[in-house]
Amino acid sequence: MIDSLVKVDNTIDGVFINGSWVHTDEYFEVFNPANEEVIARVSRAKVDNVYEAISASKLALGFWKKLKPFERNKYILGIIDTLEVNKKSLAEIITLEQGKPLHEAISEIEKCCDYIKWFTEENLRINDYSLYSTSPNTEINVKYEPIGVVAAITPWNLPVGSIIRKIIPALCVGCTVILKPSSQTPLSAIKLVQLVSDYLPNGILNLISTNQDEIVGEILSSHEDIDLLTFTGSTETGQKIIRNSSSSVKKLILELGGSAPFIVFKDCDIDKTIESIINAKFRNAGQTCISVNRLYIEKGIEDTFINKLVAKVKKIKVGDGFKSGVEMGPLINQRAINKVEEHVTDAVLKGAKVITGGNRIKRKGFFYEPTIITNVKLNMKVMQEETFGPVLPIAYFEDHKQLIEDINRNKYGLCAYIYTKSQKTAKKMVDGLDFGIISVNNERPTQVSVPFGGFKNSGFGKESGREGLLEFLRLKSVYFDDLHS
Ligand code: NAD
Repeated sequence: MIDSLVKVDNTIDGVFINGSWVHTDEYFEVFNPANEEVIARVSRAKVDNVYEAISASKLALGFWKKLKPFERNKYILGIIDTLEVNKKSLAEIITLEQGKPLHEAISEIEKCCDYIKWFTEENLRINDYSLYSTSPNTEINVKYEPIGVVAAITPWNLPVGSIIRKIIPALCVGCTVILKPSSQTPLSAIKLVQLVSDYLPNGILNLISTNQDEIVGEILSSHEDIDLLTFTGSTETGQKIIRNSSSSVKKLILELGGSAPFIVFKDCDIDKTIESIINAKFRNAGQTCISVNRLYIEKGIEDTFINKLVAKVKKIKVGDGFKSGVEMGPLINQRAINKVEEHVTDAVLKGAKVITGGNRIKRKGFFYEPTIITNVKLNMKVMQEETFGPVLPIAYFEDHKQLIEDINRNKYGLCAYIYTKSQKTAKKMVDGLDFGIISVNNERPTQVSVPFGGFKNSGFGKESGREGLLEFLRLKSVYFDDLHS
């Protein structure tokens, strides 16, 4: 599966700088979360490599930013073909190092192709514009320029998707990029860069693999030559980046944690709603930023609803993502298991009842049972924090106003799901809920053309949509007065 990456001794050598794979003497190990075995050793960038990557990106910017959007598109569009041809092998690497079922990994790559198509098309529609002046001899132009050198720091849960959502809009508008993927999932990033780099001029995209997150993160956050840092990951790391970047006053895009509520009203279609919860909760073993973190059911249907839901949850097939029929893979690592166990224990100690699941699965790998808990209270970790695992706490409600207050009393504001047939109820919820994305009777609010991003501790800035391109541009307002030809 990783044969094309490995050179000698199960070791993947080199960080990608200025169009070449540069040897480093240091390595770190990558594990398969389905069996806890080492998959490979990967080059760890030295501090000097990080500075070299920044210099290469700055140098390449001069050429890249001067191209017209359609000229840059000629380079970028080739990436779609290579992703389509190599879809299966890249998806296999994702499943190997991240654990998600192979079909989920394949759809992650397919979505990447959609992103590239959409960004390259939309990029052609961004134009400078003129404004009328209040003085007769003045002409005013507002010009878009690429912001410059971009550092992209990505998480492990969408190991290729989160990279594409950052590097493609940046490259489209004329920025150059230094990519630092998660140390949990560097293999798919390396494979992606191998494929993509065939199409790009030297220095336009550079890759720094490392597990020395604090050291490299600090350099990328504070370096004066990096104009924008785009980060997807936990709120805690996002806060460190804000602190570390303050001296260089660079632009940040922060896509951080979430605690998505899923609200079920009495008038919903119960069977369809349950299908949606299963997908929106247990996809990627509950490890997406928009995974349902807390379920609220309107009183009156709770018994029927929970019985049906539990029956379905018990049938979820958990296992190695390569096995056919598997619907849920392992969690990423021991730390993830510890967090899930801590949240379930906290809930039980505060009076919650485990209806199904509630335990680590006794086998090799970081597997945890799909879990449902009831009797939950607002002060439990499962209701306040991001569990990032296959645990679904269920609360009940009657009063809609109180519901909105309870849901908003949480530091996150990324995504909320509402299931009702009533337009009036849906509109009231949309107006009252403090979330960047609200999804009514829809379990997958991730369309390429729609801005994606959260409020409050879920971060700021948008990915996807036209706004996802505009983030990488800066505006120059130009006043022309008294010019002679
Ligand atoms: P993480 O914060 O541990 O790591 C994210 C990235 O930051 C990794 O590449 C990591 O190596 C790097 N990093 C770690 N310490 C750093 C530092 N001090 N400075 C700079 N970079 C550093 O997050 P994770 O566990 O990889 O990902 C899971 C989190 O990501 C969850 O909270 C999830 O909600 C969030 N996420 C958010 C979105 C979104 O769009 N809002 C999407 C996916 C995931």
